[in-house]
Amino acid sequence: MKILTNRVFRLLSNLPLFACFVGLGWAADITVGTATAHTGQKVTGFIPVVAGVDAATNIPVIVINGARPGPKLAIVAGSHGTEYASIIALENLVQTIDAADLSGTLIVLPLINLASFAQKVPHLNPVDGKNMNRMFPGKADGTQTERASWAIARQVVEKCDYLIDLHGGDLDENLRRYAYWPQTGKDQLDSASRGMVLAFGLDHIIIQRNQTPAVSGATSISRFAEDQGKPTIIAEAGHAGTTEAADVDALVRGCKNVMRHLKILPGVVTPVEHPVWIGQLTTVRSDHDGIFYPLVVPEAYVQRGMIIGYVTDYFGNKLADVTTPISGVVTYICSVPSMKKGDTAANIGEIAAVP
Ligand SMILES: [Zn+2]
Repeated sequence: MKILTNRVFRLLSNLPLFACFVGLGWAADITVGTATAHTGQKVTGFIPVVAGVDAATNIPVIVINGARPGPKLAIVAGSHGTEYASIIALENLVQTIDAADLSGTLIVLPLINLASFAQKVPHLNPVDGKNMNRMFPGKADGTQTERASWAIARQVVEKCDYLIDLHGGDLDENLRRYAYWPQTGKDQLDSASRGMVLAFGLDHIIIQRNQTPAVSGATSISRFAEDQGKPTIIAEAGHAGTTEAADVDALVRGCKNVMRHLKILPGVVTPVEHPVWIGQLTTVRSDHDGIFYPLVVPEAYVQRGMIIGYVTDYFGNKLADVTTPISGVVTYICSVPSMKKGDTAANIGEIAAVP
């Protein structure tokens, strides 16, 4: 009641602004899960995922409803709960954003896959063994990953205007910083997301060729958002589960730059001028079970045929060299000795012409 009285007072004390909001049909309250933020408020809460065939979970959400109207930007991280730099970046971001400075709304999900984070399990949700970035738009009656995806699809993706999905070097991934620009073939969507990815500021950009609709129930949050017509980008930073300041800061700075680009935050953005565009990303897999020894680091430029690592048996005898089938830049290389036949040893990005 007190809140209501305060709101009425605040609105009445600023009648011209109130009239302007009404004129634009601006919805003052923004609700995601248990968090309802009135104009000018930052509110935390949870998106409840009720128990089904397996356990319930609660996905943390922060809603920052700006003092002025504007677009709704959703930023998510932690679908891979041990890609820590991306999660810490969003923890830092929400602390530094003041609702009074915003024109529009920021919806932040810093940690989608809580069980992966809590149990330190990379890539998957340990509750059901599923990848939380491959199940969108999920299922209301599926396993936990599917139910969580369903809730996020309905309550966040469908309600936002723009989306940023953050990832990073998982526990076993020694990764260079880069962003993805999804090229869907829909000009308006592609030009909006291109503006976002250049504003984000990372100097290596992978072009995702997403020109056919994704397979429903088996796709990433970003692909699902694009299919909904929402301009979307993905950014990654962090080496092997670390939270180095340079990686965390690059992600925080990137998110704020996109907010400035979308006019949600005031200020000028200098977009990255000459990024390295990467056209084709090739995954190099191991042909053997054994122990992996990397011979290159991310950032390295490699020539087709170059040896980038090798695999030994459990007695130290070399089984095979791992060579790159293309020339390009190492975007990430396996950072741990554990290696199974078919596992990713490295990803190599082929330099592309400016799209
Ligand atoms: Zn990831």
